[in-house]
Amino acid sequence: MKKITIAIDGFSSCGKSTMAKALAKEIGYIYIDSGAMYRAVTLYAIQHRLFDDAGEADIASLQEHINQIHIEFRLDPCTQQPQTYLNGTNVEQDIRTMDVSRKVSNIAAIGFVREALVRQQQEMGKKKSIVMDGRDIGTAVFPDAEMKVFVTASPEVRAQRRYDELTAKGDTCDYQDIYNNVVTRDRIDMTRDISPLRKAEDALELDNSHLTPEEQTAWLLEQFHRIAAE
Ligand code: C5P
Repeated sequence: MKKITIAIDGFSSCGKSTMAKALAKEIGYIYIDSGAMYRAVTLYAIQHRLFDDAGEADIASLQEHINQIHIEFRLDPCTQQPQTYLNGTNVEQDIRTMDVSRKVSNIAAIGFVREALVRQQQEMGKKKSIVMDGRDIGTAVFPDAEMKVFVTASPEVRAQRRYDELTAKGDTCDYQDIYNNVVTRDRIDMTRDISPLRKAEDALELDNSHLTPEEQTAWLLEQFHRIAAE
């Protein structure tokens, strides 16, 4: 069976990372959450006060800082789950707050941010045997990926999943706030000038609104075995 590259793209909070992680674990591939990288840059900008009170980023200052932002993934020795590190500090929890979610899509629309992160993502995928999820993986990061999946689910289902995820972690949150965030991020991601979110022509489409995680993994494994055996 040949080593392949797997690109999983789709809308916000449609369970891409859960499915990508499960698939990578089953087939012994490396999993990379590209959204975590955009979130880490956003967290860096918050920590360095690069947003004004209206939530607008100081783009010129961010550009000056961009080469000082180092993002890496390390496996948690207990859970074996990848953790996001920003300049040597574990920020896995801090990048998932609503404040970061509100600001991240505007940061992800900036050209020099995308250039820096896409370069790093391509480097990570050089040896194949990788599952990467995001918005532009099948269209811009790995346009030659052998397996591309585009995931969709209704905004209501996605907001509910995100709400359940945050409340399970003990965060206090509001469903309507989350719903608005999901819809706003989709709009910004789909309409930005550089690498907007769209389905690659050769991507398989998966609407997982009514699938259990097990059914989803089974479907992904079936596609993987078919494609890797070709
Ligand atoms: O995947 P996640 O929802 O954590 O991603 C956070 C944000 O990062 C997205 O809403 C999107 O704006 C941006 N993103 C992107 N390109 C990617 C991954 C994420 O623009 N490949």
